[in-house]
Amino acid sequence: MTLANELKSIVGEDFVITRRDQMMQYLLDETPQAVKPVPADEVLVAKPSCSAEVSDLLKLANRTRTPVYPRGGGTSTVGGPIPTTNGIVLSLERMDRLIEIDMDNLMVVAEAGVTMETMLRAVEGKGLLFPPHPGDEGAQVGGVVACNAGGSRAVKYGIVRNYVKGLEVVLATGEMVSMGGKLLKNNTGLDLMHLMIGSEGTLGIITRAVFRLYPMPAVTAVLLVSFGDRRTAVAAVPRVLQSGILPLAVEYVERDIIDISAHHLGMSWPAKRGDAHLIFTVDGRSEDEVYALCEQIAAACDASGSVDTLFAETKQEQDTILRIRNELYGALMGDLAESLDLAVPPAKVADFLDAVERIAREYGSRIPNYGHAADGNLHPHLMMDLQQRGILWEVKDAIYEEGARLGGTVTAEHGVGRSRRIYFNRYTDATSRRLMRGIKDLFDPNGILNPGAAIE
Ligand SMILES: Cc1cc2nc3c(=O)[nH]c(=O)nc-3n(C[C@H](O)[C@H](O)[C@H](O)COP(=O)(O)OP(=O)(O)OC[C@H]3O[C@@H](n4cnc5c(N)ncnc54)[C@H](O)[C@@H]3O)c2cc1C
Repeated sequence: MTLANELKSIVGEDFVITRRDQMMQYLLDETPQAVKPVPADEVLVAKPSCSAEVSDLLKLANRTRTPVYPRGGGTSTVGGPIPTTNGIVLSLERMDRLIEIDMDNLMVVAEAGVTMETMLRAVEGKGLLFPPHPGDEGAQVGGVVACNAGGSRAVKYGIVRNYVKGLEVVLATGEMVSMGGKLLKNNTGLDLMHLMIGSEGTLGIITRAVFRLYPMPAVTAVLLVSFGDRRTAVAAVPRVLQSGILPLAVEYVERDIIDISAHHLGMSWPAKRGDAHLIFTVDGRSEDEVYALCEQIAAACDASGSVDTLFAETKQEQDTILRIRNELYGALMGDLAESLDLAVPPAKVADFLDAVERIAREYGSRIPNYGHAADGNLHPHLMMDLQQRGILWEVKDAIYEEGARLGGTVTAEHGVGRSRRIYFNRYTDATSRRLMRGIKDLFDPNGILNPGAAIE
């Protein structure tokens, strides 16, 4: 029997794609063109409907030594799910059951293929909050766990890792393992569940997750503070945090690119003054509480040299600001060679931005930035002119070198995927890489899971 027919016998005739023209969407993700990996020629797409089918599929792949590329929402910006050798794309899209919102334990149980959009709306409907919010709600439960996604709300609430309490995983051998559970404390042996979080499809297929939830805050507010330049803006962030306020999010954006995003949406950026902006989102139990927090933030920013402050009172004003911010990646995509995802210690953000500015000047270019300022996580945007002039890699090398010098890391939240392998190898010590390799070999002895991605 051919591989395609064997797959059909596992997941059903209608759920295997063999024709290239029908599988194009499974060969792509959101990685910018200049660094997008090239998909292999002979790929099959299989869509199992349950963990037992995932298990049978992996037994087949392991026996035939066929590479398997797990795929969630395909919102990776680093080529994570792109099948770069002949093999099987395993799409979790049919495993989209939201199994339970457990009000007594404040947890949600969902299959891997549930989108963030579906899960967020469902828990919000119960007055609950799943705090992490990666920018694209088309991302799926399995994908955000596999990438240990971050997002803007990490300042106060942390990243996906902080919310995963249980996982169901199918190993490369087809064995099913249940890790963790509806438990807030669990100290039993080595923590396999946390190894799976952020493993980018290289250690196993995540088929189900249990996440912790919080009560939905009664009130949120958005404050848009403008500054004359980058350094003054980011230097205000530690001042705000030192004043004892913990905002939900502190996003940093720059005038020239935020105007592009606003224009892209047919809107206009509400801040009229300043070239660098901080967007603070705060939450609380009452309007008075939130209003007082906004006043404190405005005062701390004023003392740090802000030139304007805009308090978005209505839901519509808040949505406008956040929508323009969230559209940045899409708006810049056409002219974008690559978006980086470095993190430096939060107190070093201003130094990092100065270094990026200096590198841009040296190479006669402009490198716009935005990111999660209070997390130390910036997304320098390398535009197509660098690619066209043949200096993209040189400029990238210089930025990563500055990031490392400041005690930073190659990727804060998007992962290594395929496009950052070279920098992961360069800046991760040999002993750590050897240990990771050993773990990979233990979980996936024949190396069939997402070869070429992340830790490989
Ligand atoms: C506009 C935009 C904004 C974004 N903003 C953010 C942000 O603020 N913060 C952030 O952290 N990320 C952000 N991202 C990146 C992306 O959304 C996240 O990395 C997300 O977690 C990917 O989820 P996915 O379901 O789309 O996974 P995919 O892109 O399908 O896959 C990502 C990786 O996970 C693996 N994988 C997927 N599902 C499984 C599974 N069930 N089991 C095992 N492995 C699996 C894949 O093999 C691949 O290596 C953004 C992306 C876009 C396009």
